[in-house]
Amino acid sequence: MTRVFVLCEFSEGSTLAPLSGEMIGAARRIAGDGGVDAALVGSGVAGLAAQAAAYGADRVFVADNEVFADYQAEAFMPALAALVESADPDVILMGQTNAGRDLAPRLAFRLKTAAAMDVVEIKTDGGGVQFTRPFFGGAARADVAIKGRPAIATVRPKSQDEPEQDASRSAETITVDVSPDPATFKVRIIETTQVESEGVRLEDADVVISGGRGLGNSDGFRELEEIAKLLRGAVGASRAVCDMGWYPVANQVGLTGKVVSPTLYIAVGISGASQHMAGCAGSKNIVTINKDPDANIIAASRFAVVGDWKPIVEGFKKKVGELRSS
Ligand SMILES: Cc1cc2nc3c(=O)[nH]c(=O)nc-3n(C[C@H](O)[C@H](O)[C@H](O)COP(=O)(O)OP(=O)(O)OC[C@H]3O[C@@H](n4cnc5c(N)ncnc54)[C@H](O)[C@@H]3O)c2cc1C
Repeated sequence: MTRVFVLCEFSEGSTLAPLSGEMIGAARRIAGDGGVDAALVGSGVAGLAAQAAAYGADRVFVADNEVFADYQAEAFMPALAALVESADPDVILMGQTNAGRDLAPRLAFRLKTAAAMDVVEIKTDGGGVQFTRPFFGGAARADVAIKGRPAIATVRPKSQDEPEQDASRSAETITVDVSPDPATFKVRIIETTQVESEGVRLEDADVVISGGRGLGNSDGFRELEEIAKLLRGAVGASRAVCDMGWYPVANQVGLTGKVVSPTLYIAVGISGASQHMAGCAGSKNIVTINKDPDANIIAASRFAVVGDWKPIVEGFKKKVGELRSS
């Protein structure tokens, strides 16, 4: 019997992020006859308990306070520690997100256990839980088991299937009153800037079309944006182009950028350096457009179109537009 605890995250504060559903689904799978607990730490999030239940949570722990409006470790750590103490889980899942990456090692240190980061597979093995995580920038994978209890893992977005929501399910809601005093925090958030992005978030997109240095200049991204719109997807970029200011760093895919696992990843004018592949190798299908038949990314691609990107992308956009309007 495994009791699994999931730290949820939110989309614009008004729904659970798809990753939360993916983690609750994975928790349900590994919990067996044990239970699944979802934790909602945020401001104005108590109403999302029903959605956590619909995804498969048995109990929902809620710490709802204005102090949790923006992620800040000094606020979240005491809340998370209090919720974990009440729930007493065997396994804790968090997202491989900015918050999860920061919180998991802190919590592991506090609880004298360990955290497996950027997990892409979770298996049960004779009662224990095994996590698979990529290393060497995605070139290899390791199966790890954690001796301490609870075992902590951060889960890569889109690596787990999002379960159907069952609105008829209900969960016990446990409200935990934690109100850390911001006056005691060593770090003060002075300003939060929202990156303007239209349409679907890169991390949540089912289709990602990314551009690299092969586009020649930033204008090429307008073409990719049009295609992304037609496919209801998002635009990504290699670090080379973000460093040159052709596209926002928030859209960088790779080791030092976002990790994406869409159903379709279209790489245009990207060579496929290991640091880029670390961010997209988990995609279900990679399609490459590159003029170099020996480009590294071609070996990892399901389909490759070899040639100058411009006429290929124009033809593709036209065809997608026709199919969309037919
Ligand atoms: C510590 C560290 C971290 C890093 N983190 C990241 C990261 O997170 N993300 C990341 O992307 N990179 C990262 N990098 C950089 C990485 O090593 C590469 O330099 C970078 O990914 C290359 O970007 P690119 O593929 O756009 O450019 P290039 O390697 O220059 O490739 C351009 C490609 O475009 C093709 N091309 C050229 N002209 C055309 C055309 N007309 N039509 C079609 N194809 C064309 C070329 O054949 C080539 O394959 C990191 C590097 C380091 C050292």
